[in-house]
Amino acid sequence: MTAAERQPDPEVEVRRSRRRRRTISAFREGERIVVVVPATLTDAEVADEVRAMVGRIERAEARSQPSEDDLLLRARRLSDRYLGGLADPLSVRWVDNQQSRWGSCTPGDRTIRLSSRLRGMPSWVVDYVLVHELAHLLVAGHDADFWAWVAHYPQAERAKGYLLGYSSASQMDPPPGESEDVIEG
Ligand SMILES: [Zn+2]
Repeated sequence: MTAAERQPDPEVEVRRSRRRRRTISAFREGERIVVVVPATLTDAEVADEVRAMVGRIERAEARSQPSEDDLLLRARRLSDRYLGGLADPLSVRWVDNQQSRWGSCTPGDRTIRLSSRLRGMPSWVVDYVLVHELAHLLVAGHDADFWAWVAHYPQAERAKGYLLGYSSASQMDPPPGESEDVIEG
């Protein structure tokens, strides 16, 4: 994995517990990872533990990411729920070669591709990109009709903000929408 593909460090909150002697635990709380450590650890020890625990959580989350069959089912469900079932994708694939896009769509063969950089992101963010690309099966461009469809997904604005923050933190391109995602077809 190159530096450019690496995800930015997640937000981490360290909680020092006086009751703990040795045990260290970590869990996801929204977009943040909370690491609970004994109050007796030094800052250097805490930094090591945080690195290890964050790595462990991110690897576990990457393993639990949906397969492409799962993604297709999920896309169809999202279409039913938010797009009146009108968007009917044939395949949804993870791709590694989309450095500047979160997703893309080819209406001609009804295929959707998601950047593998979305792996490990919260499911509501992945769902936003899916809804966005599904909406391109209905409307090719980013006009008012297009955004009216996307707005049926309740977390659209929040997810756009999340991806925008991620993009600027990692100096990547902005989320799909305003300018850059390309409809091939
Ligand atoms: Zn788009």
